[in-house]
Amino acid sequence: MDRGSFDALATAFPGCVKVMALSSLTTWRIGGEAAVIEARSAGMLADILGRARELGVEVFLLGRGSNLLVSDDGYDGLVVRLAGDFGMVSWTRGGDGWLVSAGAAVTLPGLAGAACMKGAAGLEFAVGIPGSLGGAVFMNAGAYGGSMADRVVSVEVLDGNGFRTMDRAACGFGYRASFFQDSDALVLSVLLSLDSGDRDRLMESASATLRKRRESFPLDLPNAGSVFRRVEGAPPPGKLIEDAGLKGRRVGGAMISKLHANFIVNAGGASSSDVFGLIHDAGRVVYDASGVSLREEIRYLGSFEEPQRGR
Ligand SMILES: Cc1cc2nc3c(=O)[nH]c(=O)nc-3n(C[C@H](O)[C@H](O)[C@H](O)COP(=O)(O)OP(=O)(O)OC[C@H]3O[C@@H](n4cnc5c(N)ncnc54)[C@H](O)[C@@H]3O)c2cc1C
Repeated sequence: MDRGSFDALATAFPGCVKVMALSSLTTWRIGGEAAVIEARSAGMLADILGRARELGVEVFLLGRGSNLLVSDDGYDGLVVRLAGDFGMVSWTRGGDGWLVSAGAAVTLPGLAGAACMKGAAGLEFAVGIPGSLGGAVFMNAGAYGGSMADRVVSVEVLDGNGFRTMDRAACGFGYRASFFQDSDALVLSVLLSLDSGDRDRLMESASATLRKRRESFPLDLPNAGSVFRRVEGAPPPGKLIEDAGLKGRRVGGAMISKLHANFIVNAGGASSSDVFGLIHDAGRVVYDASGVSLREEIRYLGSFEEPQRGR
C-alpha cells in the first residue's frame, strides 16, 4: 500500500496499525511484512473496512494463520485480525443440549476443550485443529468424520451490504468448502448447537484424539496441516505422495514430512517459495505417477511465481 494510504489508516485508527512480519502470525512461520490492524468490535471492523474501501486498499482477514502460505514479499493490503469482542463465548442450555454463541476469534481447540469440560458433545473432532472459529467456518474444518457444518446453526457476517445473519443452509458447506470462500462476507460470530454428553467420556475422547494426532502428524515442526485436499474416488493425498516416493523430499528449508506425506514442514529457514516449489513438485510427480490432479487445501496470501517445470 502506498505511504499516503498507510498514513491515512494510521491517523484514522491511532496506535492500531502496525507493520509486522506475517511469519509471526502463521503456523508455518513463513511470510513477509504487511500492515496489520486488530479490530476489537464489529463497529470498529466496519469502520476499518469502510476506510480501506475509500482508500482503495485491499483487506485480508487473518485468523490463526494455520491454513495459510504467505509470500516472502508480504502483502500489499491491510491484514485485519479479530480481537476483543470477537473472543467472547456464551453458553445456553437449549432443549437436550447446548447453544453456544462464540466470536470468530475464539480458538477452535479452546472452544472444543471447553465444550468437553461442560459435557457438551459434538466438537471433540476439533480439539487438535489450531484455527480460529471464523477460519474453521470459512474452511468447514473437520476431522475423523466430523466438521463444522454439522454444528453450525447460523453465522453473523459483515459484507459490502452490512451486517446480517445467515442460517446453515446459506453457508453452502461442503468438504473443506463454504460460501465464504467465494464471497467478501466476513464471519463475525457463530451459533453452534451441541448435544448433552458425559463430561468424563468427552474428555477421554478428546485426549485420545490428541494422542492420535501427535502420533500421526509432524507437530514438532512448523506446518499448516494437510496441504492438499482429498480427491473423490482417489486414495488420500498423503498416500499418493508417499507412493510417488516423495516422503522426505526437500526444496530449501521445506520438506515433505517423513511422518505424514500430506504435510510440508518448515525444517528450518523455509521460504514461501521453497514451500510453493515443493507443492508444485508434489502435484506434478503425483500426476505423472497416478494421473490424479491434486488441489491445495491451503490458502495463499501475496504473490507467488510459478516455478519452472522440472525444478
Ligand atoms: C497442525 C495442524 C493440523 C491441522 N489439522 C486440521 C484438521 O484436522 N482439519 C482441518 O480441517 N484443518 C486442519 N488444519 C488447518 C487449519 O487449522 C484449518 O483450516 C483452520 O480452520 C484454519 O483456521 P485459521 O483461523 O487458522 O484460518 P487462517 O489460516 O488464518 O485463514 C484461512 C482462510 O480463512 C479466512 N478466514 C479466517 N477467519 C475468517 C473469518 N472470521 N471470516 C471470513 N474468513 C476468514 C482467511 O481469510 C483465509 O482465507 C490444521 C492445521 C495445522 C497447522
